[in-house]
Amino acid sequence: VDGPVRQRSLWQHNLALVLRHVSAATPTSRAEVAAATGLTRATVSSLVEDLLRAGLVTEVEPAPRTGAGRPATGLVLSAAGPAGLGLEINVDFLAAAVVDLTGAVRHHVVRRVDQRDRAPERVLADVARMAAEAVGSADLRVAAGSADLRVAAARLAVPGLVDGDGLVRAAPNLGWRDLDVVGPLLAAADWPDLPVTVDNEANLGALGELAAFRQPAASSSASFLYISGEVGIGAGLVLDGALFRGAHGWSGEIGHVTVSPDGPVCRCGARGCLERYAGQEAIMRAAGIACDPALSADMAVARIAELARSSDPAVLDALSDAGTALGIAAAGVVNLLDVDTVVLGGSFAALATWLGSPVERELRERVLTAGWSPIEVRASALGAAATVIGAAGSVVHDLRAAPATWVSTLR
Ligand SMILES: [Zn+2]
Repeated sequence: VDGPVRQRSLWQHNLALVLRHVSAATPTSRAEVAAATGLTRATVSSLVEDLLRAGLVTEVEPAPRTGAGRPATGLVLSAAGPAGLGLEINVDFLAAAVVDLTGAVRHHVVRRVDQRDRAPERVLADVARMAAEAVGSADLRVAAGSADLRVAAARLAVPGLVDGDGLVRAAPNLGWRDLDVVGPLLAAADWPDLPVTVDNEANLGALGELAAFRQPAASSSASFLYISGEVGIGAGLVLDGALFRGAHGWSGEIGHVTVSPDGPVCRCGARGCLERYAGQEAIMRAAGIACDPALSADMAVARIAELARSSDPAVLDALSDAGTALGIAAAGVVNLLDVDTVVLGGSFAALATWLGSPVERELRERVLTAGWSPIEVRASALGAAATVIGAAGSVVHDLRAAPATWVSTLR
């Protein structure tokens, strides 16, 4: 900022600074935080008081000390206190998860229902019910005497283009257009005060992956392409440790990258999009497996994997073609942006055994720099759960980056 720093923004800044030090080294002490940040002991004590009162940090027994003087009380992030609620609407399932401030997953539920022929209000009412169950879940109760977890905010993942204000511009596989999802969700859930934001499912999956692989030294430099395969295909792009959203927040539509200009017509109206070669239904069609509407996507993926394991030639060919198409699309991204890793997420994680080699082969052949630095291709660490856990985790990430908002609400 160019203007003068006001008292309040100074407090906000220092509060975040102290919390960052507590999260980086556990347990730490007030004296160590003062030494590391350059703040006075008195300022640190006052800020730690604010964080303790808001349930963001907690005190632990001091570690035995060998030197002179009384050992200092330890400070750690609190596993009680505020938590993040993640919610996910996908084409054939709904999911809810709660992640606490330390990053631990405290609740995770998936419900398999095909959402394609359902009215949006009914889908959102189901999500609201799952959210209420998550908030009331027994997993969130902490030992007697300490405070229970409290959901600070919720983030909803949707397979489509989302505007900043919670408007779903288009979710083609659900048939949704220009739909407000936050209003009906809050009405159905009966929490007028809970902050709810909406984001694209692949973006949140990429954030889940980033958190799962976050190592202190590597987090700020991680650059990877996360490809989420469901009925549609989306991607989340992490550049230098941060999600790249693009001008409107619509980056990552890799499903509509052209693989073959003369290919079959896609739902979007163009020809030869990646989704037509590597989407779940495209793989099943190519493998000669009937797209049974009663078969949920994860059952369909399990069926594909089972046939591949038994070396069914049609299925192996279909997966090889899908992997080739994925590799061609991914190579364009790697050539342009110099990411060093391609993560196969969503249902692709369960098929990575067969998709991985053709993707690697195409990257090797098509990426100019592959000879100097091979591109790593791997399955997502969280599999199909990456998105909903990433949604909850991103709430926690925001809370830890800017704790003043939460502390102020309790004042
Ligand atoms: Zn398309």
